[in-house]
Amino acid sequence: MGENHWADLHAPGPGKSSITGWADSNQLLADMDSAGIERAVLLGWYWENQQTCELQNLWHSRWVKAHPDRFIGFATVQPMASDSAFEAVCRAIDMGLRGIGEILPPAQGFSHTNPTWLKILQWAQENDIPLTLHVTEPAGHEYPGKVDTPLSEYQWLAQQFPDLKIILAHWGGGLPFYELNSTCHRAFKNVYYDTAASPLLYDKRIFRIVADIAGADKILFGSDYPLRLFPKESKLPGFERFLKDIDASGLTEVEKEKVLCGNARKLFGIGAS
Ligand SMILES: [Zn+2]
Repeated sequence: MGENHWADLHAPGPGKSSITGWADSNQLLADMDSAGIERAVLLGWYWENQQTCELQNLWHSRWVKAHPDRFIGFATVQPMASDSAFEAVCRAIDMGLRGIGEILPPAQGFSHTNPTWLKILQWAQENDIPLTLHVTEPAGHEYPGKVDTPLSEYQWLAQQFPDLKIILAHWGGGLPFYELNSTCHRAFKNVYYDTAASPLLYDKRIFRIVADIAGADKILFGSDYPLRLFPKESKLPGFERFLKDIDASGLTEVEKEKVLCGNARKLFGIGAS
C-alpha cells in the first residue's frame, strides 16, 4: 500500500517486535471507561499517500458520528497531493473532524515551506482549527521511526502563524525548555505540548518541570494509545498505568484538572458536563 514508514513501525517483519498495540473503537471505549476517560481525541497518522489520509479521515468521521460525546476526530493530510490535499482536508472538517494531525513532514516528504502546507495552515488559522505535529527529541535513545525534526522549524511556524493553535506532540521534543527564552515565549503563545508516549521517553518529573516552565495551561494529556507505554509491564494498551504516574508526578489538583480535562475543553469549546 506504499506506506513504508508506517509498515516499518507497525509490522517490522519476522523476528522483530512492534511496540504498538491494537484496538478497535469498542476496545478503546472499554479502556476509556475503565480509566474514567470521558472523551478521546483520535489523531490521524502521517501517511505518505493522500488516499490513505482520506480513508482514515472517513473512518474517524464515522467513529465520531457513532459516538459524538466520546470522540473528537482529527484529519490527516499529505500536502504533496497539492490542491486535492487541501480540498480533502476541508471536506474532512465539514464531515465533523475538529483538527489536523498528527503530521510529520520529514516522514511524508515535504517541508514546512511547501505551498500547499502553508495554504492549509493559513486556512486552519483563519478557521480556528488546531494542528498537531509529531516532534522528536534531538537527544536520547534511538528507536524505530525517530526522524530529525529541527526545533527551530516549530519556532518559525509559530511565528508565521501566531494565532494558529499548534499542539506539539511528545512534549514538543524538549521545546518547552525554550519558553524560558523571551523570544520563544512570545512566539509560543498559542503553542501547546501533549504528553503522548511520555513514559517511553521521560521520567514523570517532566510534568512538574514543564508546568513550572511553560505553565499547566499549555499541557494536554495525550497517550499515544494504542501504543504500549509500559512494554515491560503489559502487552496490552491502556490508560490507567499512565494516569497513575501523572497522579504521582507532583502536579497540584488544579494543574491535573487542567492537563487532563480543562485545557482540552477550552481548546475544543466543550462546556463542563
Ligand atoms: Zn507522534
